Amino acid sequence: MANAIETASTASDGMRDQHGRRIDYLRISVTDRCDLRCRYCMSEKMQFLPRREILTLEEIAIIASRFIARGVRRIRLSGGEPLVRRDFADLARALGRHVKSGALDELTLSTNGTQLAKHAQGLFDVGMRRINVSLDALDPDIFAHITRGGDVAQVLAGLEAARTAGLKVKINTVALRGVNQDQILPLLHFCESRGFDLTLIETMPLGEIEQARADQYLPLSEAIEPIRAEHELVPLDYRTGGPARYFALTGLKTRLGLITPLSENFCAGCNRMRLTCQGRIYMCLGHEAHVDLKAAFREKGVAGIDTLLDRALATKPIAHSFSVARDAAPSTHRHMNVTGG
Ligand code: SAM
Ligand code: SF4
Repeated sequence: MANAIETASTASDGMRDQHGRRIDYLRISVTDRCDLRCRYCMSEKMQFLPRREILTLEEIAIIASRFIARGVRRIRLSGGEPLVRRDFADLARALGRHVKSGALDELTLSTNGTQLAKHAQGLFDVGMRRINVSLDALDPDIFAHITRGGDVAQVLAGLEAARTAGLKVKINTVALRGVNQDQILPLLHFCESRGFDLTLIETMPLGEIEQARADQYLPLSEAIEPIRAEHELVPLDYRTGGPARYFALTGLKTRLGLITPLSENFCAGCNRMRLTCQGRIYMCLGHEAHVDLKAAFREKGVAGIDTLLDRALATKPIAHSFSVARDAAPSTHRHMNVTGG
């Protein structure tokens, strides 16, 4: 461990983990709460954390500043649904200052889009230029089924507001066997008509849900068959800092991203760590190992952050070990809304 800690980074070098990977991307789950209940993400009766356990906005801002001083260049705000947190706009403004000063290359957001209509212009004004919006179906009934009651019209209104505000949008779609397979082509055409990119994601076994992951899992090689039938996929060098591999599609402007945690592991290039709303750092989405930054910060201030950050870097696993086999337990007890996507 001592050696591993020594190989972890210094401020001038940026941060490196024990496997030599540069870590410069922080995802922050600003709340575990959400106004939807997507079937692959949460159980129907999801228990949310008590509010007293959640980091305050000021704490998130200070912790993020320290991470930036250590070499983080990109921050993505996620959740839960970040836009349901009441003081979200203040947090975005505080973090946006780092973009304006040049300390951060990028501040982005993952959102379900339900509240986007009222936030889109504000996001642009604080310095965001690119956001990811989750949309698993255009068909109102399928959307309501997947989200357990959501209204797709709200998301579509949010997307229009984002476009008007000048935000670049990437639609994220989790491919679900027998549920939204026939939505993938309409979603692609929708993206083409709006100037959005589209990324497909394989479902990951995070937390207990009502359905067996084995039944839900649709490998992307299969999910893209209808796209392949109409367009050739041409690999691109384009990257956005995350795990997606991008392809151009003949005849279309929309780029197609593929995130394949199950069928094609991408951990070798992982540059990410995650701060939860409870103040924990997880170095891998698929492992339980974490450090409790909130306790250290409340006890020792910024010095406490540095010590734990070094410990976290030294313990980042080489890879996740996701399995959706029928008899496999979930990789973590945590659902995705806790860790942030
Ligand atoms: N609420 C926001 C949203 O839906 O975009 C942000 C948080 S959500 C957890 C972030 C991303 O994780 C979304 O694209 C969502 O579809 C994806 N996601 C959630 N649970 C997942 C799972 N078990 N496997 C794969 N992707 C998942
Ligand atoms: Fe909420 Fe996003 Fe999870 Fe859906 S994927 S339940 S919108 S946090």
